[in-house]
Amino acid sequence: MIEIHKIWKETLSFLSSEITAVAYMLWIDNLTPLCVKDNTLILLAPSLHAKITINKNYKEMIRKALDKTKSSLIDADIIIDEETSYYTQEIEAARKGTPPSPSPAKVKQPQFITRYIFDNFVVGESNKLAFHAAQSVAQNPGSAEGYLSFNPLFIYGDVGLGKTHLLHAIGNYITEHLPDLRVLYVPTEKLTNDYVEAISNNNSGDKGALTFRSFREKYRNVDVLMIDDVQFLQKKTGLQDVVFHIFNELYQNGKQIILTSDRPPKEIGTLEDRLRSRFEGGLLADVGAPNLEMRIAIIRKKMFLEKLAVNDDVVYFLAEQFDSNIRELEGALSKVILYANLINKPYPDINTAKEALKNNQQKKVGIDSSDIIHAVCSYFHVSKSEIISKKKTKDIVVARMTAIFLITEMLSLPLVTIGQLFGGRDHTTIIHSRDKILAAQKENKEVVRQIKDIKAMLNG
Ligand code: ADP
Ligand code: MG
Repeated sequence: MIEIHKIWKETLSFLSSEITAVAYMLWIDNLTPLCVKDNTLILLAPSLHAKITINKNYKEMIRKALDKTKSSLIDADIIIDEETSYYTQEIEAARKGTPPSPSPAKVKQPQFITRYIFDNFVVGESNKLAFHAAQSVAQNPGSAEGYLSFNPLFIYGDVGLGKTHLLHAIGNYITEHLPDLRVLYVPTEKLTNDYVEAISNNNSGDKGALTFRSFREKYRNVDVLMIDDVQFLQKKTGLQDVVFHIFNELYQNGKQIILTSDRPPKEIGTLEDRLRSRFEGGLLADVGAPNLEMRIAIIRKKMFLEKLAVNDDVVYFLAEQFDSNIRELEGALSKVILYANLINKPYPDINTAKEALKNNQQKKVGIDSSDIIHAVCSYFHVSKSEIISKKKTKDIVVARMTAIFLITEMLSLPLVTIGQLFGGRDHTTIIHSRDKILAAQKENKEVVRQIKDIKAMLNG
């Protein structure tokens, strides 16, 4: 097991002699080593701004310093809070493998994304019920308020409208104000993986492995249980049975349960009836699409939090263009900032924003992932089956990464979905490919030209 804190400390000692003291203090000292993925050290940066600056100016130095440590690590990736959810398994593994750090206060517990707090949530008509219910539950978990029961609290609404943010906000609030309570957040995908692992380990006799018993213990020994995206609960796996029992037990003991889904319980086709009626038994609160005023407020908040600056025109432009998904709205803002950074315009104006988002608008005229894969394959002369295969020949890898990059840039598909398009690769691989091509464009004009040519093919 790799001890990442030790390696990072060693890396820092090499770095400190290469970098000015101010730069070290401003950028490097604020990085937290989280885990290892594919021989790459994953470092958490405190903001998008920090991530951009470090990638641009210090990445190569970090890589070289890492090399000097003689560990098995060959590279470092800088991520921000929002991206930690893609590494939950690796982070957990790193935590188990790492002895307690000498200064535990400095090491983050990444269960809850620190930026996802109530204060950073913009409240308006479309989400005020969900917001106030979440706040009330955070303050008084498990208790019934008058005749209105908030248990379970079921928050539903389209993707990118703040459900996960609210769950983390509840988690952050309770961690701070009611530290004795045990609160557990779990995405349905992770719950399912844990369950499958528990079932398959059940008879293995391997100590330390997650068994069915420890699985149940883990989820019933809590005061607050939050399950994100329950529309992914599959039928007939036995998991719904287990969730039903855990639910009843927690509920009867006055423990708080909070669930989210992209639709109300009655529309989740895969849900067994008895679970559906449990889910409907408390408060159902929806989150809807924000109006223009809220969207503007959300962009401003994000700019404030991330210390970003863009022209006012740009704020309106973004708020008008992206009206149904806040994640896309935030993504568009980040893209404008990243693009402006790439062309050395630290304070982007409306033309820069339009240029940066040119390809986003194209998605409306119907380019889809298979068009992109097709174009990339013919450009690089590789076949579709090669591009989604596990082959690691250089030209295939380049084509694959380019296709992944273009899909992340031109379409707003979830990373998990993109992973599935490429033969079931996981989302961290997708992030890695995307960032590789993004970085390659800065260093290599040939890559810039390739991307441009392929986009021209797609448009023409
Ligand atoms: P969901 O879980 O509903 O798909 P998320 O909670 O992941 O959506 O939200 C997507 C992004 O939008 C997050 O970065 C979140 O912080 C942001 N966001 C959503 N709603 C709001 C809001 N009302 N105010 C500020 N940011 C928001
Ligand atoms: Mg979510």
